[in-house]
Amino acid sequence: MSIKNIEAIRMDFPVLHQKVHGKPWVYLDNAASGQKPLPVINAISEYYLKYHSNVHRGVHYMSQLATDKFEAARKTVQHFLNAEHDHEIIWTTGTTEGINLVAATYGRKFLKEGDEILITGMEHHANIVPWQMLCEEKGCVLRVVPVLENGTLDMASFYELFSDKTRFLSVVHVSNALGTLNPVKEMIKHAHSKNIPVLLDGAQSSCHFAIDVQDLDCDFFVFSGHKVFGPTGIGVLYGKTEYLEKMPPYKGGGEMIETVTFEKTTYAGLPFKFEAGTPDIANAIGLAAAMDYIHSIGWDVMEAQEKFLLEYATEEILKIGGIKLYGTSPEKCSVLSFLIEGIHPYDTGTILDKMGIAVRTGHHCAQPLMGRFCIPGTVRASFAFYNTKEEVDALISGLKRIKTMFL
Ligand code: PLP
Repeated sequence: MSIKNIEAIRMDFPVLHQKVHGKPWVYLDNAASGQKPLPVINAISEYYLKYHSNVHRGVHYMSQLATDKFEAARKTVQHFLNAEHDHEIIWTTGTTEGINLVAATYGRKFLKEGDEILITGMEHHANIVPWQMLCEEKGCVLRVVPVLENGTLDMASFYELFSDKTRFLSVVHVSNALGTLNPVKEMIKHAHSKNIPVLLDGAQSSCHFAIDVQDLDCDFFVFSGHKVFGPTGIGVLYGKTEYLEKMPPYKGGGEMIETVTFEKTTYAGLPFKFEAGTPDIANAIGLAAAMDYIHSIGWDVMEAQEKFLLEYATEEILKIGGIKLYGTSPEKCSVLSFLIEGIHPYDTGTILDKMGIAVRTGHHCAQPLMGRFCIPGTVRASFAFYNTKEEVDALISGLKRIKTMFL
């Protein structure tokens, strides 16, 4: 059963109440970015309307108010992730920057020629390219855990790929292209038994269920604000204190220093060592508002609706016939990746758009994964808790029509 107050929840998202090409807009591109509820939009405008000032350096009233709200936002993120300390929360511009930061600081300092970095075959380019850049620079080797036909990881290979040269494990928590929820706790446990640090790419997990970094025991966790119904341009790197403390800074400038002379600079403590320059104050506050909003709805409610939508959509799409699903892991989040046999994904996406239905088509920034399945890309419908059964019905009848148009 879908949740009862869905219409009330949808009222919090003005963007959803529009027409596209004369049809009610059906937004099923949530894996690319989540929509923003009014409390997020209001928190950002309130900052600019009422107390915009730069943070940390000001003695004046508004600067202190802005600083309080900005640092309170960091605490909100700490609670959102159940991190032990607020100084373990580093503001970034998003998942991509978080991974680049770890590769460029931890990687450059602690990895050397011949060391191996382990990732998986279902990574987003953001969790491939920074490691490849590091490999090119340092002579490290990238190892890749293969993906099985149903879109799960080949765990036997995972264990085999660990060697005495493995130095870092970086894994996507939930695949953006397949929806697969990976057995990350098992992977982290194994890596830790060999003293290998683990980074989780949480871009697609942080928007679907509660994250507990202490329970996961990951050493780094990165995600993007815009996927958790917060603003674009802001994200978070969580790192365990023991790692963050021994990592060098990422960028140099104001805010991240303790003292500067022309002879030598000493760096600020955590988290500021990693936050050079004026931070994205408005969007940090907006992100905290998104997290408060999530808690006001409740993960249980959100998860129940998404589970219902995914199960219903999967059942209905398979009834159409001639459609192949990519990613059929029993453990998955609300992503439906598919191809209609004989129809290019771009054609499907373009025609759905004319029907007012927004899906994503293409490689989903996971070209190696598409290569694994020997396809150019898929059509991806991805659901959020504010989506409805009627919207799934619109997708299904759209797909039926497309099939009759082409075949
Ligand atoms: N990792 C995954 C699994 C993603 O889905 C995405 C975005 O789609 C990213 C990383 C990159 O996120 P961003 O572009 O917000 O940095």
